[in-house]
Amino acid sequence: MDYAGVDGRRADGTAGDEVVEPPASFSDRAVASDPELYEAFDDEGPSAWRRAADLLDWETEYDRVLDDDDPPFYEWFPDGRLNAAANCVDRHLDERRNQLAIRWFGKRGERRSYTYLDLHREVNALAAGLRELGVEEDDVVTLYLPMVPELPIAMLACARIGAPHNVVFAGLSAEALATRIDAADSEYLVTCDGYYRREDAFNQKSKADNARLRADADLSATVVVDRLGDALDVSLGTDEHAYEAIVEAHDGEAVDPVARDATDLLFVMYTSGTTGRPKGVEHATGGYLAHVAWTTRNVLDVRPDDTYWCAADIGWITGHSYGVYGPLSVGTTSVLYEGSPDYPDRERVWDLIERNAVSVFYTSPTAIRSFMKWGAEYPEAHDLSSIRLLGTVGESITPKAWRWYRDHVGGGEAPVVDTWWQTETGAISLATLPGVTPMKPGKVGPPLPGIDARVVDEDGEPVEPGEPGYLTIAAPWPGMLRGLREGDERYRREYWLEGDHGWRYRTGDGATVDEDGYVTILGRVDDVINVRTHRFNTAELESAIVGAEGVTEAAVVGDGDGRIVAYVTTRGDVDPDETLRGAIGERLARAVGDVARPDRVVFTPDLPKTRSGKIMRRLLEDIARGDEFGDVSALRNPEVVGEIESAVREE
Ligand code: ATP
Ligand code: MG
Repeated sequence: MDYAGVDGRRADGTAGDEVVEPPASFSDRAVASDPELYEAFDDEGPSAWRRAADLLDWETEYDRVLDDDDPPFYEWFPDGRLNAAANCVDRHLDERRNQLAIRWFGKRGERRSYTYLDLHREVNALAAGLRELGVEEDDVVTLYLPMVPELPIAMLACARIGAPHNVVFAGLSAEALATRIDAADSEYLVTCDGYYRREDAFNQKSKADNARLRADADLSATVVVDRLGDALDVSLGTDEHAYEAIVEAHDGEAVDPVARDATDLLFVMYTSGTTGRPKGVEHATGGYLAHVAWTTRNVLDVRPDDTYWCAADIGWITGHSYGVYGPLSVGTTSVLYEGSPDYPDRERVWDLIERNAVSVFYTSPTAIRSFMKWGAEYPEAHDLSSIRLLGTVGESITPKAWRWYRDHVGGGEAPVVDTWWQTETGAISLATLPGVTPMKPGKVGPPLPGIDARVVDEDGEPVEPGEPGYLTIAAPWPGMLRGLREGDERYRREYWLEGDHGWRYRTGDGATVDEDGYVTILGRVDDVINVRTHRFNTAELESAIVGAEGVTEAAVVGDGDGRIVAYVTTRGDVDPDETLRGAIGERLARAVGDVARPDRVVFTPDLPKTRSGKIMRRLLEDIARGDEFGDVSALRNPEVVGEIESAVREE
């Protein structure tokens, strides 16, 4: 199918009004099938969220739903007590002890499977071992592991004994790890010898050692998972312990799950750092788990008999909420994949979906853009008929990518839920309810029931439909962060506005809303470009550019002198030439207006991406301005920076 010319966005930056109804085959058996849900939440206020909390097992039933006496320090289910690991593991044992919880696929073709009973046994053993090493309730444990089963197991072992975890994405540097160990006041570390990066065994332990040297804190104990076996031998110091030995020594021991206050810290997680310094977000146990479980069921429609795959790395919030806590709390079977989607080849993702009969698949626009770049022949060579729902998160998805995803992965039928949320929101906040709400490709959808999201102007007044404004949330929600590692003052300043309207949470994203209440994310508020007295949002311009035949990705920035610079990547079989440059200008002129024609179109093999896969516009802007740019070590592909610079200069 040819997608050229069916971009769907209008000049006002909102997506076109194409409406895609949920297929009846899906709605008929969807978890959320009652359109009254929206009204019920409106009518009932915060207590409507009992629906979410009641999906969990509570050690002490909560009485109060929300304590909002001291805004913006809100407390959800404050007098309830529960344990997150018991909710993700123990309570499933009666009904499905022999059901698979995790099917793991390693980079070298290895496989391991864990039933809920297996998971229970290993989580208990590790919990007992961590205790013996001195970990007590409220001690923060840092986890620095790649996508191996030991990562979710360690998270659950921590949760079992009431020790908050602090997962640091395995690809981050020693310095980044050191900063996060210190900021979290963490004395314990779980890491591994190393892991495979493509063909090579990579030494993770030496990065962890480096971090220990740099960190101010002294670690009391380190646990080391043996991922590489004979491929890499690391020697362990006296305060370092082999994971396998711990689990073996404590095999069969039972550790009672520690009942935690709903408001107690479950984990610390740093944001991706797309816009600046990462922030240490703290999530509470009860509200977070309730919101995550509720959205896993009602938005991703996941049930115990599904095989579900969230492709995000557990080192980021999506992997926490929808790779670990969500699927395990609802008792489903998850795929956990260690590798990258094109290793050992571009069949990998589709092969995994086919061989596991994955029914619900959740990934990001950056991955979908790669799939498009590689071509539809790869998914088409596989039987993907098991898929019944697709999800996306992390960046705006263009109507073109949305349709490609649905047509080539979802068999042209599966609902695609575009889910908007943040590390700070903890769980999905804006999305369609797939069995109830029609979809509009390129628009996220309305706020979920119970999420009071509003697009407002500088004064906090709602903007007219189609007008750009700030995305804010006017009332607390259960998955919200309970605070920042950087302190209460920073938390208040970073996120909250107090005004005539009461307290409002500031997302930092710009958006429009249409007559039907569907929200379109326009990009970060800071990503607005001022050109010739017009204000453009990056997402709007970029969506128009990728509408041009052969274009796969685009990032648009201002050069500081009122000019628009567009960085563009193309499909492998397309020659980036003057004709394409002209076509891009035409598309922008048509979709947005003549003033939006870019002054420069720079073709580049790739765009700079953060470790979590987001385009880092901040850096592209520095290059366009000819400014010094700072540290690029946070990038996944720092090597492209040089190429982009020379492309800019040549041009
Ligand atoms: P930092 O806050 O450190 O700059 P970050 O905002 O990239 O990093 P995350 O919390 O991982 O860190 O990302 C949340 C952001 O991702 C949102 O604020 C939004 O800009 C973007 N985002 C997430 N989902 C969507 C979506 N469905 N559509 C558009 N944008 C999205
Ligand atoms: Mg952010």
